[in-house]
Amino acid sequence: MAATLVLLETTATNLRSSSLPAVTAARELAKHHGGQVVGVVIGAGVGSAAADAARFVDKVLCFDHPGLASALAETWAPLLAAAVKEGGASALVASATSIGKDVLPRAAALLGAGMASDVVKVLSAKSFRRPTYAGNAITDVEVTTAVVVCTARQTEFAAAAPAASPGAVENRTVAAVGALGSEFVALHATQSARPDLAEARVVVSGGRGMKDKAGFKVLEELTDLLGGALGASRAACDAGMAPNDLQVGQTGKVVAPDLYFAVALSGAIQHLAGMKSSKVIVAINKDPEAPIFQVADYGLVATWEATLPALIAEMKKLKAG
Ligand SMILES: Cc1cc2nc3c(=O)[nH]c(=O)nc-3n(C[C@H](O)[C@H](O)[C@H](O)COP(=O)(O)OP(=O)(O)OC[C@H]3O[C@@H](n4cnc5c(N)ncnc54)[C@H](O)[C@@H]3O)c2cc1C
Repeated sequence: MAATLVLLETTATNLRSSSLPAVTAARELAKHHGGQVVGVVIGAGVGSAAADAARFVDKVLCFDHPGLASALAETWAPLLAAAVKEGGASALVASATSIGKDVLPRAAALLGAGMASDVVKVLSAKSFRRPTYAGNAITDVEVTTAVVVCTARQTEFAAAAPAASPGAVENRTVAAVGALGSEFVALHATQSARPDLAEARVVVSGGRGMKDKAGFKVLEELTDLLGGALGASRAACDAGMAPNDLQVGQTGKVVAPDLYFAVALSGAIQHLAGMKSSKVIVAINKDPEAPIFQVADYGLVATWEATLPALIAEMKKLKAG
């Protein structure tokens, strides 16, 4: 029977919201492929997370084993490929998160299936729309193999809502886990009280024009007043003004918040590739020719030194009163 499988990432207890766009993409694909949308949850001690995930799909396959605690492509991809084969599924989907981008190509290779990465639209059973050249061109691609594999750009698919009734959870036995010589060593997670950059409704990003870490401290104040996440251009990260995991762009995170503040960053195409789907873009730059103004809804030609302290003071007044 046809089915569309979707990799669902979880915490110990819950489905991660970053997987909800993949469910939407899977539902769109399933309209063309027919059959159920089946979630796949993999991890260690993920029983309750699988139950949570089942609220969004027709069924969940749960692979629970101590050796699967870390998302290694070497251990997760064979399970996905086997689930596709056993279930006679014709499509496999994941969100284009770090995990999705790591695991799905390997699963596609194991299946001998063609893959479309970072798709922004499902066009038919086998064709997809995706950005190329850092988002400067949009390409329609067709996968010609029997099984179709794709990762969905999170910012381009709405988060799926819970289904009318939750799907069943099917626990799958995992006999042994072989990591093919690779090993999970450690995760150095960033501790931050701010929302996750990829999921924040407001993002405030700074560029090289912020000059140094002290400049970014001013930006942090604005970020916290707005309850947002901090971002940065690659030049700012490379210069050590902001940590690398805050980089927005082609080789950083892709974000699409309701409000994106771009301060003292030029708006190079590689940066725009990561933020131009934001709903409202506000730019502050001293150069009126800066390319960021081409995508900005509101632009201020000024230095941040002259504008941010006044903006912060006004916001504090508003909050206080
Ligand atoms: C393969 C590849 C991948 C890349 N991936 C990424 C990516 O993912 N993300 C990314 O960001 N870049 C990426 N880049 C780099 C990108 O091309 C640019 O070099 C980078 O985005 C520039 O960062 P910036 O705008 O902060 O710096 P700059 O280009 O130096 O711009 C600084 C801006 O600040 C303004 N400014 C200066 N002082 C002030 C002030 N006091 N007040 C207000 N404005 C001021 C200037 O007018 C200028 O517009 C990539 C490049 C390549 C080749």
